[in-house]
Amino acid sequence: MKISNTDSNEKKVTVFGLGLMGSGIARAFIANGYSVTVWNRDVTKAASLLSRGAVLAKDPNEAIVASPLLVICVSDYKVTHKIFSSADVTLLKDRTIIQLSSGTPKEARSFDGWIQKLGGSALNGDILAWPAQIGSSEATITISGSKSVFEKSAAALKALGGTVEFVGEESGASAVMFSATMAYLAGSWIGFTHGALIMESEGMRADTFGNLAAGMSSLLAADSIHMGEAIQQGKFGDPESTIHTTALDLHLLVQHSKEAGISAMLPTFAANLFQLAVDAGYGKEKHAAIIKVLRHPE
Ligand code: NAP
Repeated sequence: MKISNTDSNEKKVTVFGLGLMGSGIARAFIANGYSVTVWNRDVTKAASLLSRGAVLAKDPNEAIVASPLLVICVSDYKVTHKIFSSADVTLLKDRTIIQLSSGTPKEARSFDGWIQKLGGSALNGDILAWPAQIGSSEATITISGSKSVFEKSAAALKALGGTVEFVGEESGASAVMFSATMAYLAGSWIGFTHGALIMESEGMRADTFGNLAAGMSSLLAADSIHMGEAIQQGKFGDPESTIHTTALDLHLLVQHSKEAGISAMLPTFAANLFQLAVDAGYGKEKHAAIIKVLRHPE
């Protein structure tokens, strides 16, 4: 059966996956006046959505048939594949699938190809928000895939996030950006936690450090732009602080961790990386020049 986005279908969506993020997505669609069908392996997670008007599909087939637009947000692409493979995949013909589960660029490309072969259309997206922010102006969603499919799905995507950014027709582009963002966040989370550990070890408050770090957010934003430009242009000269100075600071952080009797894992990793850059002759350059070491892992 050919499904088109006629008026009656326009605000119909099926959400696969009702974990923390999928539930937030389903709630946002309901709040925006969509007829929402939901499917989740653990059906008990659907209860609060059913009380808001969602309809529970008894199996993936019913979930696919219910709406022309399928939004999936499960743990990853492997789980997505498992769910769809348990269904009659011929039903995916003429369906638009917005994949919001996180995955690698390779997985996104392969998913896109698979859905196209089945006669459907796919967009691969990534969510840069917490579940509670979904549907608000604070949520950002990046999307890659066919521009025309994106345009057709723009209204639905807008129900999920204040900022919906189309990052290109190359289907892996959004996953590339998500991985880059995760790398940044991982550094920030681990760095923050080590900072809190230092505070704790001296009988000081972690939330005091949280407030101090929050006050640096505009400085960090400027630093991101600065580092991005330096790496893009390959210009690492004229630094305000050198790799050499930072390597010394990081060796001090290792010393501090040992003196305080706390984990030295993060400081040791960071000091070793900056030391490698010094040893490679980049000591007088900007911090961003450590990418030259990372580009050539042993
Ligand atoms: P979650 O709460 O752990 O939910 C995982 C979902 O995947 C559940 O619906 C779960 O079903 C389903 N699932 C897992 N294994 C399955 C299997 N073998 N068969 C069928 N279903 C299975 O995770 P989440 O926080 O919602 O995250 C979902 C996606 O959003 C992830 O890709 C994550 O990277 C992305 N994301 C999350 C956040 C966030 O803040 N939470 C932010 C950005 C992106 P059951 O309920 O039946 O277990």
